[in-house]
Amino acid sequence: MQTAVRSLAATLEPVFRQIHDADAGVVEDQIAVARVPAPTGNESARAEWMARRLRAAGLRRVEIDAAGNVIGSVGARGKSPPVVLCAHLDTVFDSREPVHVIRDGDRLTAPGISDNARGLAALAALAELVASGHLPVTRPVLFAATTCEEGHGDLRGARFLFDTVANGAFAAIALDGPGDERIVTSALGRRRYHIAFRGPGGAVPVVLPVVIADLDDEAGTLQRSIKIVPHRHAGLLTGCLHAVSQ
Ligand SMILES: [Zn+2]
Repeated sequence: MQTAVRSLAATLEPVFRQIHDADAGVVEDQIAVARVPAPTGNESARAEWMARRLRAAGLRRVEIDAAGNVIGSVGARGKSPPVVLCAHLDTVFDSREPVHVIRDGDRLTAPGISDNARGLAALAALAELVASGHLPVTRPVLFAATTCEEGHGDLRGARFLFDTVANGAFAAIALDGPGDERIVTSALGRRRYHIAFRGPGGAVPVVLPVVIADLDDEAGTLQRSIKIVPHRHAGLLTGCLHAVSQ
């Protein structure tokens, strides 16, 4: 096993060097893609940008699927289960205006510059390495930039991807945010609940504090009533409160 790891490391050594040397270009991609607004559910402009970038990287049959995902591959699709490399397109920022990126030496500041402009730039860099043959692969590799990962997007793009072309994938790697200090190797579970609160009506400013107080109370009950398995990556996210008068 150790010999296999050592020989793999030796094979990858020149590739790592190449990645390191190409980082200035990856940062340029990161800035360029961050400038294209992509609020969850409205990622089409950024999807078009990524499609052009992945074609330029040398991927074949780059297309945008019915869920708005950009997909392209190396190796014959459908021959053997692919390795999927994916990065989400959307950001939590709602603006549809072009994003202004501030550069101060090595420091970049802009909404979504890390999550997930860096992941998308890394996806394009890897596509280039695999398509050019510099990073040898033994299986087909499917590259995907997916939609609706954040918040209430409910992973729409990734779900569609794995229901269609990535169904039965050999492995999947998601590139998200900057750095490689943290690699998560176990999948996150996700359960979604739609909870309706009913109470006395009234003007929204009056009703909302009551509803929020109830929600606080109910969140405790909710945590007790649904068996959340303790896990270091687990959390309870709540959001999206609508007041409806009837
Ligand atoms: Zn992310």
